[in-house]
Amino acid sequence: MSSCIFCKIISGEIPAAKIYEDDLVLAFLDIGPINFGHTLVIPKEHHESSSTIPEAVAGRMFHVGSRIGIALKRKFEYDAFNLHLADGTAAGQVVMHAHLHVVPRGVEDGFRWNWRQLAYKEGELPAFAEELAAKVAADLAKGE
Ligand code: AMP
Ligand code: ZN
Repeated sequence: MSSCIFCKIISGEIPAAKIYEDDLVLAFLDIGPINFGHTLVIPKEHHESSSTIPEAVAGRMFHVGSRIGIALKRKFEYDAFNLHLADGTAAGQVVMHAHLHVVPRGVEDGFRWNWRQLAYKEGELPAFAEELAAKVAADLAKGE
């Protein structure tokens, strides 16, 4: 996709600090890191959503992302890492080429991922699970 900033990084039109590359994925440093070493792993093919990425490529993104997380821990003495993917604007996706964030974490790095937690009303949880499970099974069976 010609206007996509991450496609331009893949083609070499704009520079990036590459960490890893193979035929399926590219990993490079995020220019606005949450912690130093924060890396993005992207599919080489343009996909806006994680849902259209072929399974082998998505698996490669996850595998490479977790290895980068381990390397950040071993080399730079981080304690942990987050793997994060925002799918859609409402989820916080700004660059519309799917990307997996690898965010190295320290015990006291001062950063909190502020997920809230709601509570299901009495009896709501099993019904919700049943509806969602049926939809997932039907979509997977259709190959979606
Ligand atoms: P998201 O909010 O999940 O879409 O994240 C987009 C990320 O891309 C942000 O963390 C940006 O700092 C990062 N980013 C944007 N442009 C570049 C670039 N040219 N090189 C590296 N990282 C970038
Ligand atoms: Zn792209």
